[in-house]
Amino acid sequence: MSQTVTIVGGGLAGLSLGIGLRRRGADVILHEAACYPRHRVCGEFICGLRPETTAILGISDLLEDAIPCQVTGWYHKGRHAWRKQLKRPALGISRYRLDLRLAERFQALGGTLLEHSRVPYEQDAPGTVWTTGRRAEQSDWMGLKFHCTGIELEHDLELHVGDSGYMGISKIEDGRVNVCGLFRKREGLSARKEELPLAYLRASRLDNLAAKVDSSCLDSSSVVGISHLTYRWKSASKGRLALGDQYMLIPPFTGNGMAMALQGAALAIEPLFAYSQGKQDWAHTLKHVQVGLRRTFRRRLAVSRCIHPLIFHRKGQPILSTANRCGLLPFNFLFNLTH
Ligand SMILES: Cc1cc2nc3c(=O)[nH]c(=O)nc-3n(C[C@H](O)[C@H](O)[C@H](O)COP(=O)(O)OP(=O)(O)OC[C@H]3O[C@@H](n4cnc5c(N)ncnc54)[C@H](O)[C@@H]3O)c2cc1C
Repeated sequence: MSQTVTIVGGGLAGLSLGIGLRRRGADVILHEAACYPRHRVCGEFICGLRPETTAILGISDLLEDAIPCQVTGWYHKGRHAWRKQLKRPALGISRYRLDLRLAERFQALGGTLLEHSRVPYEQDAPGTVWTTGRRAEQSDWMGLKFHCTGIELEHDLELHVGDSGYMGISKIEDGRVNVCGLFRKREGLSARKEELPLAYLRASRLDNLAAKVDSSCLDSSSVVGISHLTYRWKSASKGRLALGDQYMLIPPFTGNGMAMALQGAALAIEPLFAYSQGKQDWAHTLKHVQVGLRRTFRRRLAVSRCIHPLIFHRKGQPILSTANRCGLLPFNFLFNLTH
């Protein structure tokens, strides 16, 4: 007897899981609180995604025209700190484009997509997968992002670290550049939505970057911000099947959150398909997926959460820069541990 899989949350994890399950013939209903397309706070830099993952999900073709980003440059308060070449190029594509493509693919495969459908958190039941993204909690962090044109980049991805915040700039489609940052909230700093990124750049003593951004052509419709962001080590409640950010949040400097969302979906497909075909009960399905998630992500989450505070700490930043200048920063080793 076949059973329907209900997915709550149509971001990367939910949509890609829906596609993977539909390709195998499972019945899937997906609820998305908002609609497509829309801009999301995200660096739009997909790092550490393996071709095997997109092949399992059946979405490789949707990423074919993403911009390959291989050379990354780190800056500390305007000064070039280091340049690193990634072993495998990361991919630059806007969420506006990618989420829409995934939603269309899911529907083309016969999946039922319900937009503007917010499911209450309490409404958990066997067969429900929670891919609702980060949990909204009070926090000190603020995430901001926008698109612009007319900015010259020295590297495919530039990460500018300032006082209590950083801004990543990377190439996406159509000659556009995504500018996205994470900052500690500053009480008393107020500005109109479109001016908030510039205000935060200046307050973080990233004046050179602010000047560069100020002279670019900003797409005001793409400016988005979020304020409830917590990087505390906290997983979804035990009895619930959660993937992507809802399972666990990885600090954005890794550029690995999207790859993790897709990887989590890929590893959940077979157990969920077995459930949908009545070949495995929900308790076993849940355990199977949770063991896989823990085994796959435990190390990268632990290491990146140790590095994250160093990037923001006034003393941690020069330590990182000096260690790098002296050749003591094992970039490749740390990269492998966090991806
Ligand atoms: C500042 C910042 C920069 C980042 N930069 C990068 C980067 O460069 N590279 C990278 O890989 N990752 C980055 N990330 C992380 C990345 O955005 C996430 O890891 C990724 O979006 C997780 O995908 P997801 O599917 O789990 O959640 P989301 O993409 O957030 O999707 C969740 C969906 O669930 C819906 N939803 C929520 N609640 C409900 C409900 N009750 N009912 C129905 N629907 C609901 C939401 O509307 C949303 O569409 C960044 C994050 C931040 C904050």
